[in-house]
Amino acid sequence: MNEMDNLTREQRSEIMGRVRNRDTVPERIVRSLVFSMGYRYRLHSKSLPGRPDLVFPGRRKVIMVNGCFWHRHEGCALARVPKSRVEFWLEKLEENRKRDEINAGKLNELGWRLLVVWECEIKKTETLRGKICVFLEEDQ
Ligand SMILES: [Zn+2]
Repeated sequence: MNEMDNLTREQRSEIMGRVRNRDTVPERIVRSLVFSMGYRYRLHSKSLPGRPDLVFPGRRKVIMVNGCFWHRHEGCALARVPKSRVEFWLEKLEENRKRDEINAGKLNELGWRLLVVWECEIKKTETLRGKICVFLEEDQ
């Protein structure tokens, strides 16, 4: 992400505006994996906090696909903060993290279970498949 350092303020804020962008590549991969497993879902339900990426209404469960950098995946190499403008990044990324936390709390209060799938988990298809299966099948 170090190319971020060379961007103008306008370019950075434009990119920041895309943080909760839809139809990212990781999201599409997760969607097609879940579909291939035989599950059906709704997309980006506006009525739920944080507009979860995949919604399973009958199960009262949602999946969020998070980019490691934008959502500060703890201990993840992809989540490294650029070396310059450290304060700018930390502040912005911390806002995202807090927003995620608040949305997760709201979903929980409403009785929805949440699974976060991180961008870096997508390469390990079998592990991810197992994780999603356990999440969707437990307590059914
Ligand atoms: Zn990660």
